[in-house]
Amino acid sequence: MSIKVENLTYIYDEGMPFEHRALDDVSFEIQDRDFVGLIGHTGSGKSTLIQHLNGLMKPSSGKIYINGFDITQKDQNLTDIRKRVGIVFQYAEYQLFEETVAKDIAFGPQNLDEAEVDRRVRKAMADVGLDYDHFSGKSPFELSGGQKRRVAIAGVIAMEPEVLILDEPTAGLDPGGRDEIFDLIRSLHANNNMTVILSSHSMDDMAKLVNTLMVMNKGRLEIMGSPREVFKENADRLRGMGLNIPQVLELAIKLKRAGYDVRTDVITIEEVKAELERCLLKKGGSKNA
Ligand code: ADP
Ligand code: MG
Repeated sequence: MSIKVENLTYIYDEGMPFEHRALDDVSFEIQDRDFVGLIGHTGSGKSTLIQHLNGLMKPSSGKIYINGFDITQKDQNLTDIRKRVGIVFQYAEYQLFEETVAKDIAFGPQNLDEAEVDRRVRKAMADVGLDYDHFSGKSPFELSGGQKRRVAIAGVIAMEPEVLILDEPTAGLDPGGRDEIFDLIRSLHANNNMTVILSSHSMDDMAKLVNTLMVMNKGRLEIMGSPREVFKENADRLRGMGLNIPQVLELAIKLKRAGYDVRTDVITIEEVKAELERCLLKKGGSKNA
């Protein structure tokens, strides 16, 4: 599904002495099946934006269209949109409450017939890498943090959403757990024909993962494009927003400053390696000349 946001502004406690503009005139379009990373420092407005995308929050002003349908119109039924745009909230595992993993995952699609619910639970568990026979009868409370988070993600997948949004899905996990969740999200996007949006404040991870990056700062959408477009020419600007840039790019910029003729639009280890080899060969060559 495509998403179009026009001039979205959201003000918490509007009209009160401490009102706060959490989203400020944000406009963008996301194409069907894109893989999008929402990046920004804590407080930049990521969670507020995410909650607008399935109508949980209503804009102070502006419009949101899902597949061309305006979800910000007054008094409309958003049940259908909420099924089609699934959100995995930050620390979603704290909301697990059923006695077994299978029951928890079945909670969303519970109104469907039994066979369909069972099919969806099995598929969702396979999608998040949890073995059905081993885990379905366990209590969510017996699981590790990373496993619980998988169950929470499976609960949203079981709704078979067309847009899957994950708010800081790796928050609080160790580096191993983080990589597992990123791999999982990558395969969900590759295998399920979904538009996927995830938020994070780790640039390094997102640069390697997504097709499109959206950079938020103080409620504004500052930069949007492919990771390469975003990092190119914007390193200082991103640092100014309190965001780190990919380490490989940092290295390339340092080498450039030290007089090496390297490209500064590299975002993967492979690219920086190729650039280094090219430069060193060139240097070696020029010494001999
Ligand atoms: P992020 O997810 O990027 O950390 P949020 O969307 O949670 O950012 O918050 C954006 C801004 O809105 C922050 O300054 C935050 O303090 C403020 N904010 C968030 N939730 C509330 C709330 N319920 N009431 C008042 N201000 C809020
Ligand atoms: Mg947040």
